[in-house]
Amino acid sequence: MKKKVELVIRGGLVVTMDEQGTVFNPGSVAVSRGKIVCVGDEDEVLSQVDGTREISARGCAVMPGLVNVHTHAAMTCFRGLADDLPLMMWLTEHIFPAEKKINGDIVYKGTLLACAEMILGETTTFADMYLFADQVAKAAKEAKMRALIGEVIYDFPSPNYGSPEKGIQFTKALIDEWKGDDLISVAVEPHAVYTCSPQLLKECERIVEQFQVPLVIHLSENEEEIKQVNKKYGKTPVQHLDGLGLLGSKLLGVHCVVLTEKDMECLEKNDVKVAHNPESNMKLASGVSPVPDLLKRGITVGLGTDGCASNNDLDMWGEMDTCAKLHKVFLLDPTVMPAQKVVRMATIEGAKAIGMADRIGSLHEGKRADIIIVDLKKPHLTPMYQVYSHLVYSASAHDVKTSIINGEVVMSDRKLLTLDKEKVMESVKEIARNVIRPE
Ligand SMILES: [Zn+2]
Repeated sequence: MKKKVELVIRGGLVVTMDEQGTVFNPGSVAVSRGKIVCVGDEDEVLSQVDGTREISARGCAVMPGLVNVHTHAAMTCFRGLADDLPLMMWLTEHIFPAEKKINGDIVYKGTLLACAEMILGETTTFADMYLFADQVAKAAKEAKMRALIGEVIYDFPSPNYGSPEKGIQFTKALIDEWKGDDLISVAVEPHAVYTCSPQLLKECERIVEQFQVPLVIHLSENEEEIKQVNKKYGKTPVQHLDGLGLLGSKLLGVHCVVLTEKDMECLEKNDVKVAHNPESNMKLASGVSPVPDLLKRGITVGLGTDGCASNNDLDMWGEMDTCAKLHKVFLLDPTVMPAQKVVRMATIEGAKAIGMADRIGSLHEGKRADIIIVDLKKPHLTPMYQVYSHLVYSASAHDVKTSIINGEVVMSDRKLLTLDKEKVMESVKEIARNVIRPE
């Protein structure tokens, strides 16, 4: 007697992204109640289950949804506002003044636009840091995307919550509000070492301990940060955090571009996770994170796009391509960052980096059904000798066909099902026209 399931994806090239790199061709995936119930060769899966709904994936790759480990989703509102400027001028003269104008409604609408872009690009999970994080959660939930959200906390008053102490309270309330939610998880998110006092950072760590949630911080992004932190504390940002007792397996260090040998040892010893954002680091001329070295040490590194003002998109396919090539040219070594490793960074390693590997990141029985289908029947994807090569070097967001999050189809044949794309775009155009526009 076959088991009745809600959905069967059949006949595709199933790239599981498990530890052994298992691929089934033709393979099938069965989904029920938001979870993967069976993955394997098509014949075998079909002998066990009977799907109420079937999706044919002939000529397509079926893989886990992409995990974007670092975004400021609502910064879609600032896309293309100011480019090609030195970091400090870009920040102080353009981004900060624009951010002063934002409110909860703008963050909500900007995040909806980000979700529309991400789902159409087959990202199924994003880890966000921004103001008005309650609105980020609301938008992600409406788009039916999986998200790790967190309110950015720093020493100065925030337009959302006011004083830093209130930021801590706001974070606690968010953790409480979203506890046990299927899609939304909450992290504690101090902005950076140079914008948060040691006391504030320690307070953040206390909440992490109390609630066992991830801790996310921008870390060692560029030389300027190293200089500032060294002047203030006589240490590198990583060693400053070590001294405060903040390095641990729950910590996600975003960027980690400028690292000393000792910094890398500290990250390794404490099982700190790293979010790598190659395009943002390139655009802001921050430098090149020593990712091949970090990976050699066994450090978990996930891939992210960073915010739209410094990238300027949320496209994980472009990010994978850039990641693979940047390290090759930087080290003058074409063997570093092979394609399969990069796809891992965008899926299972990303899931590990944000503490979700038990739920997502690979196609495995019992995990949540976050699954994407990539159409390989395209001139630029023909012929195919090796699927990882195509995923990194040839495919783009436009090749993605269907996206499933938590067992629910959120995009089908490139049609976004959870949001009204036109309406979402119109609302952000209006914000750009009436609120953000330079004086
Ligand atoms: Zn960032």
